[in-house]
Amino acid sequence: MGNFKSAQVGVTTSESQRTYAAEDRFEIEMPTRVLLLNEANEWLAMIAEAEGVDSPLIFKAVLSKNTEALAISTEWCIAVRDSKPTQLLLLHEMAHLLCVNKNHGTEFRTELIRLVRRYISFPHAVALYNSFVSNSLSAQMG
Ligand SMILES: [Zn+2]
Repeated sequence: MGNFKSAQVGVTTSESQRTYAAEDRFEIEMPTRVLLLNEANEWLAMIAEAEGVDSPLIFKAVLSKNTEALAISTEWCIAVRDSKPTQLLLLHEMAHLLCVNKNHGTEFRTELIRLVRRYISFPHAVALYNSFVSNSLSAQMG
């Protein structure tokens, strides 16, 4: 039944939608911390320094209905709808800033798993990887 369902999802939804769905399921299984906006800025500043890039500015913004957050590479900033973003949401947007390709492809998922492993925990990274793979999404775990 599970396989049938994921096969159906595979043909009826885009890679981006399946990536979001896998992240949502992961977030239910292994929740990440909710941060206040100033905590989020401090946390990503620490990560940016460790990654050797400039600190992105995170700010609350009015976003379109289905958009929780938006990484804006040209301005090196992250707009969030909610003033209490989760760590997963922040790393998702950080992965967009760090990736060459701005889509939700294999490069993106691999980068997100790497960030989760380094800045949240190894078990979280394994769970996220498994959630992607079980949604027929390719990713690598280094
Ligand atoms: Zn995204």
